[in-house]
Amino acid sequence: MKRVRVRYAPSPTGHLHIGNARTALFNYLFAKHHGGDFILRIEDTDIERNVEGGEESQLEYLQWLNILPDEAPHLPNPKYAPYRQMERLDIYNEYVDQLIEAKHAYKCYCTPEELEADYAEQKAAGHASTRYNQKCLHLSDEEIAANEANEKPFMVRLRVPANETYKFTDMIRGEVSFESKDIGDWVIRKSNGIPTYNFAVVIDDHLMDITHVFRGEEHLSNTPRQLMVYNMFDWEAPIFGHMTLIVNSEGKKLSKRDNSIMQFMSQYKEAGFLSDAMVNFMSLLGWSPATEDEIFTHDQLIEIFDENRLSKSPSMFDKDKLMWMNNKYIQALDSETYYDLVMPFVEAAFDISDKDEAWLHTLVNLYQPQLAYAEEIVGLIAPFFNAFEVIETAREYYDAETTETVRLALREQLNALSEWNVTEINQAIKNVQNETGIKGKPLFMGARTLVTGSDHGPDLGSSIYSIGQTEAVRRLTEKI
Ligand code: GLU
Repeated sequence: MKRVRVRYAPSPTGHLHIGNARTALFNYLFAKHHGGDFILRIEDTDIERNVEGGEESQLEYLQWLNILPDEAPHLPNPKYAPYRQMERLDIYNEYVDQLIEAKHAYKCYCTPEELEADYAEQKAAGHASTRYNQKCLHLSDEEIAANEANEKPFMVRLRVPANETYKFTDMIRGEVSFESKDIGDWVIRKSNGIPTYNFAVVIDDHLMDITHVFRGEEHLSNTPRQLMVYNMFDWEAPIFGHMTLIVNSEGKKLSKRDNSIMQFMSQYKEAGFLSDAMVNFMSLLGWSPATEDEIFTHDQLIEIFDENRLSKSPSMFDKDKLMWMNNKYIQALDSETYYDLVMPFVEAAFDISDKDEAWLHTLVNLYQPQLAYAEEIVGLIAPFFNAFEVIETAREYYDAETTETVRLALREQLNALSEWNVTEINQAIKNVQNETGIKGKPLFMGARTLVTGSDHGPDLGSSIYSIGQTEAVRRLTEKI
């Protein structure tokens, strides 16, 4: 069997999106599972859409996810380099010339205005889809010579074979077929000398010995165009697998403009998600293991990845599941790593210059069991930094009659403590119960809302401890 070689071929038109990251991940897992190579190729031929820093961002976030390429622009194998399409224009030109020579392709001198006018006419005549009218296929030798003498700009079009069927077995969808009669003569090189995606991708996949291609389903309809080129050169095509869409909870394709879902890896990194959790979560977007388990390390995923278990139906992006999963990974961190993860967010949000480190440790550790992502710590610990206030849902308890009794008793108890620790505080609460006969919710919610202003939070003794003795007593003294 040939050595497995797959590629992730982003266009540097933006930051690493969750859909692209998943494509990269599945190619990577497939390659590593089969002991093959994972290649990063930059498809930068759409020069108007390229953005400054797009390539760096792709690399930076792949690195963050630990999806590391074996070959890439910065890691070239001389046999296959270069890895940026704009550095391979000479290579494409050679193959364009060969196709022109073999009459599989021809020069088209039509101007954009002429083409537009023709397509408008076709639409007006009721054609469902428009296609090139092959005007330049039928130019006489004299007309061609005149165009050349005038140095008229031209594109190169592929001459689509008549009545061919393009059949292939997709690793995900099974048998797929397209008819050539549905496809017009398409441009393989634009008049600016740059090849189109459908042409360049074939040349590169062939020259780079790519054996398998996993990509998004938006490329399924491109595949017959690519197969035409493989046939014309008499090259063997790779095996294709077109992955299904990622959809939102309403079943609609994720739109990059939809702000209700974070879609870029940069956003997840900035919000303090863990890259291993992201990889684990993305691995289940359109793939499922043979068991019921859902938590897998990087190496386990490589071991169990099976392309036959890629899903045929769209995969739903489930935000709650991502939160659940990231929380599982946060829970598993040792306390130092956890502290280092959350502290940058704490420092950016609050002035901690007068806080003692042990206190900070205890405070942030209280939230490790529940934290979904690191940035969330800010909202959770805000009551310990900001001016005291009572949140709306806490009012009912804060203003209850029994709470007034709890307030006076608890103030006395806490004020009298000579040691400020959770055990002593819990004992103080018990004493309040014995003294006042108030217990259960009225006692605990009364005490909680009095001291923290909130009706929820980590365990009561720890919450009171984190507020500090002076502040707790002050809050029990000045009711608001
Ligand atoms: N540059 C293409 C994209 O970003 C790659 C398509 C392919 O994998 O063939 O969608």
